[in-house]
Amino acid sequence: MSTYSGPVFEMAHRQFETIPDYIEIPHHERPRILMPKRAVTVACPIHRDDGTVAVFEGYRVQHHLTFGPTKGGTRYAANVDLGEIAALAIWMSWKCALAGLPYGGAKGGIAVDPYSLSKRELEALSRRYMQEMIPFVGPHTDVPAPDMGTNEQVMAWFMDTYSMYQGKTVTEVVTGKPVSVGGTVGRREATGRGVAHLVGRSLERLGISPQGATAIVQGYGNVGSVSALTLAEMGVKILGVSDHTACYFDPKGLDLAAIEEHVARRGVLVGYSTEAAFDPAELLVQPCDILIPAAVERVIDAEVAARLKCRILAEGANGPTTPEADGVLDARGDVFVLPDILCNSGGVIVSYFEWVQDIQRLFWEEDEVKRRANQILDRAFHQVLERVERDGVSHRMAAMAIGVEKVRDGKRKRGLFP
Ligand code: GLU
Repeated sequence: MSTYSGPVFEMAHRQFETIPDYIEIPHHERPRILMPKRAVTVACPIHRDDGTVAVFEGYRVQHHLTFGPTKGGTRYAANVDLGEIAALAIWMSWKCALAGLPYGGAKGGIAVDPYSLSKRELEALSRRYMQEMIPFVGPHTDVPAPDMGTNEQVMAWFMDTYSMYQGKTVTEVVTGKPVSVGGTVGRREATGRGVAHLVGRSLERLGISPQGATAIVQGYGNVGSVSALTLAEMGVKILGVSDHTACYFDPKGLDLAAIEEHVARRGVLVGYSTEAAFDPAELLVQPCDILIPAAVERVIDAEVAARLKCRILAEGANGPTTPEADGVLDARGDVFVLPDILCNSGGVIVSYFEWVQDIQRLFWEEDEVKRRANQILDRAFHQVLERVERDGVSHRMAAMAIGVEKVRDGKRKRGLFP
């Protein structure tokens, strides 16, 4: 495993290690399940607006090819590296398997702060990255999607670049595209809506009514904002929100409509209010019913976990909770955890619908998208809870065990070539 390193990769590795003993996978089979199949690093040079040339490092990791193409988002962030992308690809595998999608996991990224580029530079970098990826991706090989720092526009540039090289339009090579160029209705909202749907199911289990329940959301990008809005529609009071520019908290509840209007104008939270400004380091530990980390990895460590005052921890982000924090939460036993690979799987589920619709050239109504996504989410939710009850394991272990087991089973049934 020496190709991959860093704290996020170590975390994915350590999480995986909790599973094979529990589901009795012999030691010699374990590396075959965990080791990413393929990884590529590309140098992406672009002309800057000032006439200079800059080179950015891009990555793509494909974890396993057992069920079909690999699938996963593309992250643009300054600190992205191969180890983090590999970890995110591994998590995508367990996520897709838990949802029963015919995909292995993948992830891509570029080490760049997307906010430091002009729109022209961002387009040049996105197109160059996709051009470099042509030998590695494809509708039946590996299908990228958005993640942190990328959006529908970037997916449209990816699709266009790939299509130009094929001499025809290949919409099914990426998901998360604008609806006008082969995207599906409901993809943009899918992850946040899925988070809110599963929070609703968890509230039901705990006998808490959404009316009057309270929530705090860390991260106000695509996932966090849609989670907050959908929960607010269900009657939940949003007490706190934050992004990389600002943090707001009001125990009486924030005016989400006003925040939305501000973000629509400014793109970020900063400048919304001075009265509700709050210390971001303390946001996660304020009392609330529902806590939604929807930003980066490893924000809930053992110390934060010990101080959490929520009933439900809904992981909109990938990998927000460290294995040490999991240990603390297991010992506490009073926090209902919706693990990332379940909680945020609405996004990739609707990506799957987009891919299917593109291949079939047959597009669905939004109600159909929502109904089918909720059906898959409910199935996965019940499978996880059944397993928790049957085996007395944590929610995360149950979710991961289901995913890992499916990957292992697929590999065994197919056999080992040659
Ligand atoms: N980036 C998202 C995730 O982490 C979505 C991936 C996809 O739609 O393929 O699940």
